Amino acid sequence: MSDRRLKILLSNDDGYRAEGLVALHAQLSTFADVEVVAPEHNNSAKSNALTLNAPLYVHRADNGFRFVNGTPADCVHIALTGLLGYRPDLVVSGINNGANMGDDTLYSGTVGAAMEGYLFGIPAMAFSQVDKGWQHLEAAAMRATDIIRDMHVQGLIAQAPWLLNINIPNRPAHEMGASRLCRLGRRHAAEPVITQISPRGETMYWIGNAGPAMDAGEGTDFHATAQGQVSITPLRVDLTDHERLGYWAQTVARLAPKSVS
Ligand code: MN
Repeated sequence: MSDRRLKILLSNDDGYRAEGLVALHAQLSTFADVEVVAPEHNNSAKSNALTLNAPLYVHRADNGFRFVNGTPADCVHIALTGLLGYRPDLVVSGINNGANMGDDTLYSGTVGAAMEGYLFGIPAMAFSQVDKGWQHLEAAAMRATDIIRDMHVQGLIAQAPWLLNINIPNRPAHEMGASRLCRLGRRHAAEPVITQISPRGETMYWIGNAGPAMDAGEGTDFHATAQGQVSITPLRVDLTDHERLGYWAQTVARLAPKSVS
């Protein structure tokens, strides 16, 4: 049980004006000290990218939110390495305009902002609303806030760091189900690239939409949110294929004498 007011760093990838950020900030501020450091513009699919080849500027909007001409990870990185001047208890990202399930988590700037906090040893949560358009945004913001408040009251924040990816179905509160622990599903490969001819005769390539769900079976985030439940998936950063280390040990040994195993 913790009575101390929680210190939250809030960011996102849709930009500091995004409705999902504004709604979540309003709800969280009822019980926590919340500082916003968010991108100036939409930074979807920027993952954990950092800006190393250009200077970053921080400005403060009339509502107190700070915004940065950089990526979501830039925002959290700057905040934690000098801008805030203190260590927040929790890094929160979102609420994103659209799902971040399965393979999305590798590309997501929403997850990237949270992951940057996690890499600095701070508990972190990424929130996304499954459909685009903010239709039931108030319900999603209240649900996200309930989850954070429940964890705070039970003393589950400010322990060892963890990273949670949370997707909230686009439904009114009374139609929303329980929280459900999930693994990530998988998507099919993305739609084909779209080509157009520019006014100057050059071919332009537009990255196609994400693919539909391929593994949306019981236990996945896709499955839970389709049932109206809130999916909660703990993520880790270590991409090592631990299960196949034995196989690769034999394979790498065959590459000798050039390789060292
Ligand atoms: Mn986004």
